[in-house]
Amino acid sequence: MADGFILTIARCVPLLAALVGSSTLAQERIGTTSQPLSVQRASVWPSAQIGVCWENPGNNATERGWVRAAVQRTWEAASAVRFTGWGTCASGTRGIRIQIIDNHSHTEGLGSRLDGKANGMQLNFTFKNFSKSCQSTRQYCIEAIATHEFGHALGLAHEHNRSDRFDCAEAHQGTEPDYFVTPYDTTSIMNYCNPTWNGGGNLSDLDRLGVNVLYGKGTAPVPGSSPETVSYKTFNLEQFETMFVAPNGSLGLVWKVNNSWWKGPVSLSGPGLLPQGAHISMVSYPPNNQLEAFYAASDGAVHVTYKAKNGAWSNPIRLTPPNTVRPGGDLSAVFYPLNNQLEVLFIGSNGALNVLWKAQNGSWNGPAALSGPGQAPSGAGITATYYPLNNQLEVMFAGNDGGIGLAWKAQNGRWNGPFGIAPPRQMPAGGRITLQYYPLNNQFEAFFVDNSGRVNVLWKAQNGRWNGPAAITGPGTGVPGGSIVASFYPLNNQLEVATVGPNGAVNLTWKAQNGRWNGPVALSNAGAATPGSPLAMRYQTMSNQLEIFYTDPGGLLNLIFKAQNGAWNRPFRL
Ligand SMILES: [Zn+2]
Repeated sequence: MADGFILTIARCVPLLAALVGSSTLAQERIGTTSQPLSVQRASVWPSAQIGVCWENPGNNATERGWVRAAVQRTWEAASAVRFTGWGTCASGTRGIRIQIIDNHSHTEGLGSRLDGKANGMQLNFTFKNFSKSCQSTRQYCIEAIATHEFGHALGLAHEHNRSDRFDCAEAHQGTEPDYFVTPYDTTSIMNYCNPTWNGGGNLSDLDRLGVNVLYGKGTAPVPGSSPETVSYKTFNLEQFETMFVAPNGSLGLVWKVNNSWWKGPVSLSGPGLLPQGAHISMVSYPPNNQLEAFYAASDGAVHVTYKAKNGAWSNPIRLTPPNTVRPGGDLSAVFYPLNNQLEVLFIGSNGALNVLWKAQNGSWNGPAALSGPGQAPSGAGITATYYPLNNQLEVMFAGNDGGIGLAWKAQNGRWNGPFGIAPPRQMPAGGRITLQYYPLNNQFEAFFVDNSGRVNVLWKAQNGRWNGPAAITGPGTGVPGGSIVASFYPLNNQLEVATVGPNGAVNLTWKAQNGRWNGPVALSNAGAATPGSPLAMRYQTMSNQLEIFYTDPGGLLNLIFKAQNGAWNRPFRL
């Protein structure tokens, strides 16, 4: 998925072909001559708040209500877009000006080119002259057509105009797009080849994702799960433990012992502890053989749940005051061998980089700010990892400018930074990033998904200077700033990187023996995972397994794995 729809269509008959036959469309005139040939981002409104008014509201309160409800249920529910106003247009009223007319419904341009344009959107409420077949399903037609036309008003071109379309023979309408936000989508409400006329008035998954990318996320939470997993070695056992957010907001756990079948799930808290989609960071802490899990609970306090010597799990314990960090935000817990320290890094509510720590399993210290405020959004994606050379602890996050900040300490001395190590506007502010040690050549490698959906790497070798970022995949491999995980896999000295594509497929990129990057390959069908939702990946010694956990659109936990570096198994639900 690329970064912006392309937009230029002027006139469009909304997908009536399937309903009334192709003759209407075939006769449609396309107003390209007066349209700019490539507008792209320039047609995306600068704000997600977009004014709407009616040129001639008339006695159509019921129909106007259908239109407003339809766009609320679709574009607004999916994103931060809010259509405001909806009164009668005055001279000079900005935004989208709608004329009610028994005409072929269309817009007189795309996106912000409609700003203040007289009769910029024309909607048919009666269908006495045009689209007469809609007379028997008037409400359905009005809602479905309005949703399509408001797609144009948001700057979206016809999906079937794309150069990468397939299985679609509809004539192009309007200027060709040259900039794609998502992979080609037959089921888009903007696609005349949608097997359901006008998508039945509903957005496709990729329509929802696209409008999110263009205008910001909606308030609907990412559902459930948010897995995090760790290998816990206790006595002569190797346990694999995976935590997740249950649908009722409790902290859930599944586990297996010595690679036998999974047990659980069990709840380690009451309901409502965690918001949906909350991040969890788990770490093995060798002193006292503890396993600890950290998360930003619904009250905005960092909490820990832990067990010692494979005993009973503790109740959730609050480590900070409430409102320290965005509820459910990211944090990164890491064992730092010097002084047996356990450190938890996060971006606090004022945007400062913060650390909580304990030494020799003593009491917790902090939170202490390691930077000034305003570095990154609260709860921004963050990764802290130990680098053996010089006993360094390094932490990276995506700052407010969409660049990447790095802070570190050596030999348990003072913290340095944060410093920017990549230019701004690489990725969405606060997006996800993961940092992994790769033993060959003592490399340290960080991965993120850039604004074009490409997986990027930053790396250093032998503790030299940082290099990159460099893209190691094409566009559309991941969701910009979305979840990404990396793991060293000892067989064949592989480094493996997984992300979820905008189409909901789990995509894997890897290298062996520090050679070229391979992939991406999809390990699941499209739609298997929730795009952008957290992932977890861990190596398990037994059977040399590598396991990837993800959340499906129902909010449930799923697993993909390989053993002995063989083929990846098909995903299954835990
Ligand atoms: Zn159209």
